[in-house]
Amino acid sequence: MKTNTQPPSASASPRFCNMGNFMRLPHAESAENLDFAIIGIPFDTAASFRAGARFGPNGVRNISAMIKPNNVAMGVNIMDSLHGADLGDVPVIPDYIHETYAAIEASVGSVLDCGAVPIAIGGDHSVTLGELRAAAKKHGKLSLVHFDSHLDLCDTVFGQKYNHGTPFRRAMEEGLIDPEHSIQIGMRGSLYDPDDFKIAADLGFKVIPGDMLHKMTAEELGAAVKERVGDRKVFLTFDIDFVDPAYAPGTGTPEIGGFTSFETLCYVRELKDLNFVGFDVVEVAPPYDHSEITSYMAANLIFEFMSVLAYQKKNGKR
Ligand code: MN
Ligand code: MN
Repeated sequence: MKTNTQPPSASASPRFCNMGNFMRLPHAESAENLDFAIIGIPFDTAASFRAGARFGPNGVRNISAMIKPNNVAMGVNIMDSLHGADLGDVPVIPDYIHETYAAIEASVGSVLDCGAVPIAIGGDHSVTLGELRAAAKKHGKLSLVHFDSHLDLCDTVFGQKYNHGTPFRRAMEEGLIDPEHSIQIGMRGSLYDPDDFKIAADLGFKVIPGDMLHKMTAEELGAAVKERVGDRKVFLTFDIDFVDPAYAPGTGTPEIGGFTSFETLCYVRELKDLNFVGFDVVEVAPPYDHSEITSYMAANLIFEFMSVLAYQKKNGKR
């Protein structure tokens, strides 16, 4: 059994002195004896507009040096409750999505085989299909909780089946996720097809569009998600463009009219009773960022998710 590793205190070791691991956690070669493992997936050649999410994992890691282990709102010190490490990046191959999917599936699968929860940093949203393949292989058909300003349910983009606009259509077709117990949250922006939400419903997904979410409380959202997924195994995927571009400008396909950083944290905290088996945050594109605010938003989302895991562990639910 490994001993818990707290990040070094910033009053003893300056935050800008580090090896670049997430939250200055240790690096590990495998997820053995870990509760969670950070994995970077720097693949962005399935993006339809701006590329740049290949720099997401290290952008998020760099600013994550700011994160401290106590989450006061959740009442946990994550590193008191959890063992975690940064496993580095999946060996992606730019442009070669199927080879990259195989690499993602192997990396995420090895984390799951150790009994740890994978926490991945994309990459464009295409990478989530590889993670879902690994997670469904381990756990069976999953409930998907999907924050995004886009549905990512296109059949094809540019005539191609594998793109950051198609991952959840493919995941459904491959039997990795159960649309009837999945939920998509925050969709908004201009559309080519005004019936996109209807298409999602026809496929079996429940959608809470951005306009509707703006009228809901965080507690109401938490209840709607719980009602949809129940106690099933859940994969949480978070496209950073869910957050308003005022708070997260560094992304490939931004949409205005989104959610503040504070609202977003509240939503994640309301999911603290779900049975999570995996998490990712995707579409952080540092070349379009300002003052690292998008990367910092993503780093804090990971911190909130780790806090949920710690809350569950501390309360005997994990
Ligand atoms: Mn997306
Ligand atoms: Mn999106």
